[in-house]
Amino acid sequence: MKLQFLGTGSGMPSKQRNVSGLALDLPKATWLIDCGEGTQHQMLYTKIKPRKVTAVWVTHLHGDHVFGLPGFLSTRSALDGTDALTVYGPKGMKKWLEGTFRVTGSHLGYELSVIEYSDGDTFEQDGHHVTVRKLEHRFPSYGFRINGPEKRGTLRVDKVRELGIPSGPIYKTIKEEERFEFEGKWYDSKEYVTEPTPGKVVAILGDTTPCDQAQLLAQGADLLVHEATFMENERSLARKYGHSTTREATSLAKACSVGKLIVTHISARYVGREEEFEREVVSDFPSSLVATDFLEYTVGD
Ligand SMILES: [Zn+2]
Ligand SMILES: [Zn+2]
Repeated sequence: MKLQFLGTGSGMPSKQRNVSGLALDLPKATWLIDCGEGTQHQMLYTKIKPRKVTAVWVTHLHGDHVFGLPGFLSTRSALDGTDALTVYGPKGMKKWLEGTFRVTGSHLGYELSVIEYSDGDTFEQDGHHVTVRKLEHRFPSYGFRINGPEKRGTLRVDKVRELGIPSGPIYKTIKEEERFEFEGKWYDSKEYVTEPTPGKVVAILGDTTPCDQAQLLAQGADLLVHEATFMENERSLARKYGHSTTREATSLAKACSVGKLIVTHISARYVGREEEFEREVVSDFPSSLVATDFLEYTVGD
């Protein structure tokens, strides 16, 4: 899974950071997580192809997370995107999108499904498993825990040779099928391949103040993407607006033993203070990064 940040600022765009947008590149598809205004412009500077986007996961309906969505969906159609696309969003998503398309006379040349999720829902999409949890914000906001597919083990050549099986297409069958046949006898493949590797886990949270649900999403994740709208000395502002501080993000990362933390949704008040901001994050949880627009990060291979 490769992540590419398209917008890492909070509230409104600045010259340094666009509003929220994140692309997730999977082996056979691309997803978007949030699509703030200007996300499609940011994509022009990347290799992301709108027609390859199969799903958009919206954390919440605040404008800085969705105002770019109708534009992106329309452009995808204009660029000959014909494969179906699913938008997953909270209650209200369907009415807003349908209303926007109706009022503006927009027509899409592909099948658009809008699924309104609720807390605790799970989905299978493009071979990945996604769990949705409700967070704490001034407005209903959600986070996603994305489980990648399990990676099959490799062939235990010594064991296969013991059976006298010569190399050939049967090796592929042993690796990929539950059972295989050799000289009229059936064998259980499991004994002839190494243990499978569990899929990578990425937790991506919408705007939130610290809460138990965030812990459920982040527990043991290989990567946690968490907002840090404010620095620690502005904690009262973070509470007032339903956001988190740098240290609240790092505390969650520590408590949940995540492999890597990337903080995003950073207030424009920290323009010119990037080093100070980064120091506060990294000093508390060294395995962390402060997102910048166009930052790429790969989880697994
Ligand atoms: Zn926001
Ligand atoms: Zn918000």
